[in-house]
Amino acid sequence: MTPPTTPPSTKPTAKPAPGTVPAAIPSEADWDTAPSLLDGAERLELTPAVCDLRYWLSAVPHGTLRGNVSGHDANVRPLAVVSAAGPLNSALTQELAYRSLAEEKATRAIGYLTALAPDTDSMEFYATQLLDEARHAMVFRGHLLDLGVPRAQLRATVARLAAADEEQILAPLEDFGLRVLRDERDFIGGVLVLTVLVEGVLAPAAELSERKWRIFDPAAADIERGAGIDEIRHLTVGSTIVRDHLRAHPHDKARLLELIREGYALWDKLPTTEVLARREELFQQGIERHADLLGDYEIWPGRRLADTTARERLETAHAWAAHLQRTRLAHMGLQEAI
Ligand code: FE
Ligand code: FE
Repeated sequence: MTPPTTPPSTKPTAKPAPGTVPAAIPSEADWDTAPSLLDGAERLELTPAVCDLRYWLSAVPHGTLRGNVSGHDANVRPLAVVSAAGPLNSALTQELAYRSLAEEKATRAIGYLTALAPDTDSMEFYATQLLDEARHAMVFRGHLLDLGVPRAQLRATVARLAAADEEQILAPLEDFGLRVLRDERDFIGGVLVLTVLVEGVLAPAAELSERKWRIFDPAAADIERGAGIDEIRHLTVGSTIVRDHLRAHPHDKARLLELIREGYALWDKLPTTEVLARREELFQQGIERHADLLGDYEIWPGRRLADTTARERLETAHAWAAHLQRTRLAHMGLQEAI
């Protein structure tokens, strides 16, 4: 365990003096008390005024990360069956390469949101989200080193493992986002694309990943847990920004609904199901070879991971995604998009 930098007894309870950083960690960003990504994204309501730079500085480095810059404690390691060549290694390295590339593209796109933000709160919030996504890219990429990829070949390995996914999924999504952000300089449209069409769609896959890797690779699961805690903030603050915009500018609703429809139509054309199914089949081969290691571990209450099928896991993540989309869109006042 990395010792906490600030002993709990020194946490201030009163409002800090101006210019000092409060050490109190908000419970939704605290490693030990934060809800799961799906629960938090559904139930919490956070605003850019709350989640400003001061909030991030007090919440994330010591609360979410507990000083673990690589996203997990140095003593937490993948099991040998994951770090050695085999289907589990293939499934996880492909997933990490894809995720790190996706996070890197998100980081770059969020630079536009930071530039276009209409006020200080949202500018500071997107500056923190930019750092979060850059960190996610770093830790997903960095975990490949723990799985046997030589450091000198890291960049090339990511490019090779994720080449098809990048061309078929990530590049079309990036083009869509850049049209809105870079070409049209549309801040709210960009928040909507990021919150609903990118993060809202991908969040359930991240939750599935944390749950399914927990035993085989607790380091990967911890990396996902930390990214998931950040994601609660991204999803909830993003939807609050859209909701408040629509309350102030109700005439903009038809335009935003059209943007969502366009985004859903794009997703329908992307081969995401095939990509996810390919990795889930590799994971399934790993379960079949190493079920003994999983014991009675339950992927969700009442269901042993060892008894699940690839299809069942994918369908469950799909159902989570549909539920999350409905809840978030209703919160924004865009329920007609479903
Ligand atoms: Fe991320
Ligand atoms: Fe995010």
